[in-house]
Amino acid sequence: MQNPLLDHSALPRFSKISPDHVEPAVDSILEENLQTVQSLLAEGGPFSWESLVEPVEGLDHRLSRTWSPVGHLNAVMNNGPLREAYNRCLPKLTRYATEIGQNESLFRAFEAVAADGNVSDRPRRAVLEHALREFRLSGVALPPEQKARFREVMEQLSSLQARFEENVLDATNAWSRHILKADKLDGLPDGVLDRARETAEAKKLKGWLFNLDFPTFYAVQTQARDRDLREDFYRAWSTRASDAGPHAGQWDNSANMTDILALRSEAAKLLGFDNFAEYSLARKMAGSVRQVLDFLEDLVARCRPAAEAELAEVRDLAGHDLEAWDIHYYSEQLRQQRFSMSQEDLRPYFPVDKVLEGMFETARRLFGISIRSSEPVGAWHPDVRYYQVDDQDGSRGGFYVDLFARAHKRGGAWMDECIGRAKLEGVDDLPVAMLICNFMPPSGDRPGLLTHDEVVTLFHEFGHTLHHLLTRVPYPSVAGINGVAWDACELPSQFMENFTWRSEVLPMISGHHLTGEPLPEETLQRLIESRKFQAAMQMVRQLEFALFDFRLHSVGRGLSRAEIDETLAQVRSEVAVVNYPEFSRPGHGFSHIFAGGYAAGYYSYKWAEVLSADAFSAFEDAGIFDQDTGTRFLNNVLEVGGSVPAADAFIAFRGREPSPEPLLRVSGITS
Ligand SMILES: [Zn+2]
Repeated sequence: MQNPLLDHSALPRFSKISPDHVEPAVDSILEENLQTVQSLLAEGGPFSWESLVEPVEGLDHRLSRTWSPVGHLNAVMNNGPLREAYNRCLPKLTRYATEIGQNESLFRAFEAVAADGNVSDRPRRAVLEHALREFRLSGVALPPEQKARFREVMEQLSSLQARFEENVLDATNAWSRHILKADKLDGLPDGVLDRARETAEAKKLKGWLFNLDFPTFYAVQTQARDRDLREDFYRAWSTRASDAGPHAGQWDNSANMTDILALRSEAAKLLGFDNFAEYSLARKMAGSVRQVLDFLEDLVARCRPAAEAELAEVRDLAGHDLEAWDIHYYSEQLRQQRFSMSQEDLRPYFPVDKVLEGMFETARRLFGISIRSSEPVGAWHPDVRYYQVDDQDGSRGGFYVDLFARAHKRGGAWMDECIGRAKLEGVDDLPVAMLICNFMPPSGDRPGLLTHDEVVTLFHEFGHTLHHLLTRVPYPSVAGINGVAWDACELPSQFMENFTWRSEVLPMISGHHLTGEPLPEETLQRLIESRKFQAAMQMVRQLEFALFDFRLHSVGRGLSRAEIDETLAQVRSEVAVVNYPEFSRPGHGFSHIFAGGYAAGYYSYKWAEVLSADAFSAFEDAGIFDQDTGTRFLNNVLEVGGSVPAADAFIAFRGREPSPEPLLRVSGITS
């Protein structure tokens, strides 16, 4: 029987893929790819776009067509054998990537093609530039000794980063709070209490047993009336994996932090950068370390007074000085007092089908595309839908939508590439995306109903989907979201979020599931107004993380534990409005930067938010559904993918450099 993972003639047949198919398919593709690279190089020069670069693009495309359905099924239909097959392939893929990335002959051949001047087409130049950059960032051009050291440093980093994350997980899992008296739990929502009671029962305990997962922690901080309970949870949460708090010294990440920073600095210096922040910026839109620091420091200066004013309102309501564990609680009280509206109250007005219909209509008006439902042949679950996307000239691609939470499906929401756009010798694939959420499923007669937060999430992922689907670039490595600077990736997604806050759009996406009535005007206005609630406090909180991260990575050498603490204290004194307790150790649990891809990149959240708000302000000026502006956004941002530098793409659309003013205005920080 043919392996369905190796059949690239149509959409993947997800329902036919079994765990047994995974490893043989990946093995055969990797082996064939490496052999093809060898025989391409064996032909000797002179190399050209046609004889070298395009065939290599084709190899990556084949690999991604085989691997993408596997990664996807592992995320949405997880089971033991599949997970094992998936995990067995990961090291093989890493080895393959290193082998390609550090292949000096291949690198020199790409260099020769770039140098001979025959490739002038912009997307082709972008393919070459991206490939050369990735070679260099893999250490391909280093002398043998340094090349080996670079590989060693990267391997050590990946295991230290994994250990950092494990410590955070283990420390989180190790803590729990057993409570016998109901009055201690005043204010907590039923869902959280039910779960805590079940957890206690499972351990044959009376009362309630709480874990330290984020939803529980957050519910306690925002809703528990008992101040000691809030402090208890706060202390446990803010000292995870550190030398302080209830498990001080166990799973302590202190040494991992200093080791990780030292190794990152060494890796960056081996490649000729001054510091790790500079290395990180090689893949980003921001031009320099100074530019990022200026960007963050400028936002701090603009937001801090508003954040202080917001905090003063909370203090007034509380009637006493606020500790860190009081702020969320009194903020929530203030929110209810001001808007008397909860997320749950709005749910009946946002039935899934109505929201999708209005969202597709929004895209039709903006970008002239039509989206129609079609049979999801060979999909992975009965909930899955499939949509075809067309414009006046024909098909642009399609996307799967899998909206509801279920067992064995990873939490959260995301967009993933199913098939990348590729028009190469012998291949003509249109893009296909997968839009995944975890909303509350329908039950009985009641359809799937969304909170407004979830509507925002859906629009966000739809923005990524459009970015992937509407590309005009024929080469997969720079088509759609591929090759887009990391700090600009969230531009289309956050851009789309803006529409969910507009009085022109809300009536299109809302209708009570029983009566069909749109959101009442007065509720709609309160909802729109609530967007600005404590926006400045949230902003300075994000800026504090971003500055801490960026300063740690821009020093140019490793830092001692004391220096890390000093950096944190300094950032807090400049940025934070909250009075943090001496014991808190936020760095020790900061997996985004110490364990993962956001190292010297946490600022990207704010950076892209500035871009998206500024892009959206062009629509505020011209009209929310203005077609010319829509077409300009389509042509200059969505269609070009990674083939144009993000800064150029933005300026081509907006006619000027990005400005933070629109973000400050929609957040209510300036008027
Ligand atoms: Zn996103």
